[in-house]
Amino acid sequence: MTRTKPEIPVVIIGGGPVGLFLAICLLKKGIECRVLEKRKEPVPDSRSLGIHPVSLELFEEVGITEPFLSAGLKIRKGIALSEDKKLGEIFFENCRKPYNYILACPQFTTEKILRDELAKLNGHALITGATFQSFLEHEQSVEITYSTDQQTNQRISSNYVVGCDGKNSMVRQQASIHFSGKRYNDTYIMGDFEDTTDFGPDAAVFLPKEGLIECFPLPNGMRRWVVKTDEYIPKPGQLKLAALVQDRLGYDLFGVKSTMLSSFGVQQFLAETFAKGRVLLAGDAAHVVSPIGGQGMNLGWMDCRVLADSFAFLTNKNSEIAEQVFREYSENQTRIAKKVARRAEINMALGRRQRMPFFRNLFLKGMLHSPLKRKAAELFTMRGLDSWWV
Ligand SMILES: Cc1cc2nc3c(=O)[nH]c(=O)nc-3n(C[C@H](O)[C@H](O)[C@H](O)COP(=O)(O)OP(=O)(O)OC[C@H]3O[C@@H](n4cnc5c(N)ncnc54)[C@H](O)[C@@H]3O)c2cc1C
Repeated sequence: MTRTKPEIPVVIIGGGPVGLFLAICLLKKGIECRVLEKRKEPVPDSRSLGIHPVSLELFEEVGITEPFLSAGLKIRKGIALSEDKKLGEIFFENCRKPYNYILACPQFTTEKILRDELAKLNGHALITGATFQSFLEHEQSVEITYSTDQQTNQRISSNYVVGCDGKNSMVRQQASIHFSGKRYNDTYIMGDFEDTTDFGPDAAVFLPKEGLIECFPLPNGMRRWVVKTDEYIPKPGQLKLAALVQDRLGYDLFGVKSTMLSSFGVQQFLAETFAKGRVLLAGDAAHVVSPIGGQGMNLGWMDCRVLADSFAFLTNKNSEIAEQVFREYSENQTRIAKKVARRAEINMALGRRQRMPFFRNLFLKGMLHSPLKRKAAELFTMRGLDSWWV
């Protein structure tokens, strides 16, 4: 039984892109919240890159689109190539306006903008340097314990706690919510380089038989290269990435200035539920999808919109219906997460080392020269997630 009235309706654990956006959505609806984030500064690397049209629409609803448009770079076209031969093009320009492009924006810029926008709404909402430790669920409230540099065992009580604390979520683990999935054998090396290509603001996806190479434009004259590798490379270096690109495409990246290099493997995990009692999950804490296709963060932002609507709907209503409202949140977002994961799987399969690349290339060429090309643009921009097919 709770002894005190909750101090605040919602406490969010984790101020990554998803936790920050959820806080903005809640505050815009007049719902007070706090975000406990262990890092003092935004994530230092550029990790996620693509902001999809659906997310720009969500940003518009809460009035934060402008800083993203100023900081990002609009990708309006994607080109698919075998090695050097063009297989076809996808034009995002033909997609629904006004956001008929994918916005390239490094994750540290995204987090910085979200932090700034949140501070404009409530300068006290984000508590940085605050590491979540545990929660205790009572009948009417949740009591959360966290630590800062100054003090351990600080407490805050709320009506609900939302775990936005990423794929290793402690909130999810402490709520005993099962997280099932798998690790794929697919591995990649990735780096941001000065743009020495002729692709300008277009994305290019190369499909040589040895495996996928993607290169995406970034703001400030940079370009992100992502290269499929046969095994995980624990210490990625420029020489390794440049050698792979040279072998497969004959393109020289050896002397080109690079700002970031990393390796990653691919996982796909899903929580058995996103709602259990007074505990909710959103973003990577609820679902991890392959970064190939670049949709994980955007998927998390979709969770935020539905979750904020659910909280707003429940304001001043009988708390007995909360269980049903959050169950619907969980079921809907699970369905969407499964679909995004399926799409990412297709992307990965197309980019794997091929014994007979001719057939894959023929298929892609056919698709990119048919009316299906428009559908492909929708798939890449996260449209049609509520339809029955892929
Ligand atoms: C190489 C790569 C490329 C990617 N590219 C894209 C892309 O282009 N587009 C896209 O949509 N997605 C992309 N993704 C996926 C994207 O990075 C994630 O989906 C996204 O970061 C998830 O956001 P999140 O806020 O849910 O979790 P996270 O970004 O993991 O944030 C969780 C936050 O919680 C904090 N935290 C954790 N534990 C605690 C604790 N105990 N107490 C307090 N705070 C805590 C962490 O410090 C962190 O800030 C990519 C991922 C990778 C690996």
